[in-house]
Amino acid sequence: MGKKHINPYDVAIKQLEIASEALNLDQGTTEILRHPKRILSVSIPIKMDNGDIKVYPGYRVQHHDSRGPYKGGIRYSPDVNLDEVKALAMWMTWKCAVIDIPYGGAKGGVRCNPKEMSLSELERMTRRYVSMIFPLIGPLIDIPAPDMYTDSQTMAWILDTYSQIRGYKVPGVVTGKPLHLGGSEGREEATSLGTVFCINEAIKDLGLKAKGATVAVQGYGKVGWNAAKLLHEIGYKIIGVSDSKGGIYNPNGINPLKVYEYKNKMGSVIGYEGCKTVTNQELLEVECDALVPAALENQITENNADNVKAKIIAEGANGPTTPKADQILTEKGIFTIPDILANSGGVTVSYFEWVQNLNRDHWTKEDVNQRLKDKMIKAYREVYRMSKKHQTNLRTAALVLAVSRVAESFKTLGLWP
Ligand code: NAD
Repeated sequence: MGKKHINPYDVAIKQLEIASEALNLDQGTTEILRHPKRILSVSIPIKMDNGDIKVYPGYRVQHHDSRGPYKGGIRYSPDVNLDEVKALAMWMTWKCAVIDIPYGGAKGGVRCNPKEMSLSELERMTRRYVSMIFPLIGPLIDIPAPDMYTDSQTMAWILDTYSQIRGYKVPGVVTGKPLHLGGSEGREEATSLGTVFCINEAIKDLGLKAKGATVAVQGYGKVGWNAAKLLHEIGYKIIGVSDSKGGIYNPNGINPLKVYEYKNKMGSVIGYEGCKTVTNQELLEVECDALVPAALENQITENNADNVKAKIIAEGANGPTTPKADQILTEKGIFTIPDILANSGGVTVSYFEWVQNLNRDHWTKEDVNQRLKDKMIKAYREVYRMSKKHQTNLRTAALVLAVSRVAESFKTLGLWP
């Protein structure tokens, strides 16, 4: 809804400007941060199963690397375009800075419809894409990860293709790999677990109780389903979930695992027993304590923000709220935990995975989750304090914190030559 009118890159630039102004950042640094450092556009030719040849547009965008190697997921979707990838790359720079891991920001994407492609077509496309962005990636340069419609299998193909070309195994070239190929314990759930830690903190800050607090989740993929499951396990009541086909609602509560099994069988959450069918827009507007948008960008816009009734929004997805909607939510007193904080658990455990790979080590799930908890709560508290100091909402506070960290690194390194 409203998506065609909103360019995510314009949103990202606007956010940078707001943070720069709050920080009184010098013109030169702002100008540098405005632009991605490197963009690679490729045309990926694939022989389809029926013998036809198709060419898919693909991108890898590297935004900024003062704090460390580039890091960011790869997305397969019919909506992928260069401006979207540029925005997502910039958000990765801020996300890594907010959660305070030593990475810069990047993102990749291929415009394709993965739902209409066979596994072998997806494998050929992935491998060819990797061969075409090969010079840009590497464990010390730029480390991809999963994003929409890519998963641990995709990462295994990337690892294999990169390693075949190099001539030796390089597990640290991607994160989000299967466990037996050097993946980290806890990676599958990490993004959602991070979101859950944030919601727990927000619940306390607002004087609410986690037990029985009601939650609606938009999107039932990796982030959405795991968030629903983890919240349910610790006593939250999931009252609505959705996927690309629509949503289901039951104020008495829904069992997320049963819905997951149902969706795997039927292809959608719709039709799950005892629930009312709702549209994705209706789902965003249900009365609840916490709303977790975990699907795609531009879902809460100026057209529907006024109807949102949640007390807390925890942005599992990247860019689900437009700047105009954000203003409306702030005026309504809705406590929004921004994407660069709320979904940073994924990249944090990606970082843990990479550290384990570089050290040929393997940590336990308890160890990973404890380290994640420490990082998430520390970052949440820093953002919360920043929001009090600057009298702003959490989004601006997170951006201010992130931009100040990146700017400090950039200025200390200096501009060469
Ligand atoms: P996914 O492909 O596993 O799931 C996406 C879900 O969104 C699916 O359930 C799909 O049906 C649903 N969806 C698609 N179009 C929709 C629409 N129009 N309305 C409602 N639902 C729709 O992807 P994911 O990894 O869960 O990513 C979801 C979001 O979270 C993306 O914005 C992604 O960038 C962000 N994110 C993901 C991670 C991660 O670790 N996977 C980390 C940080 C941020």
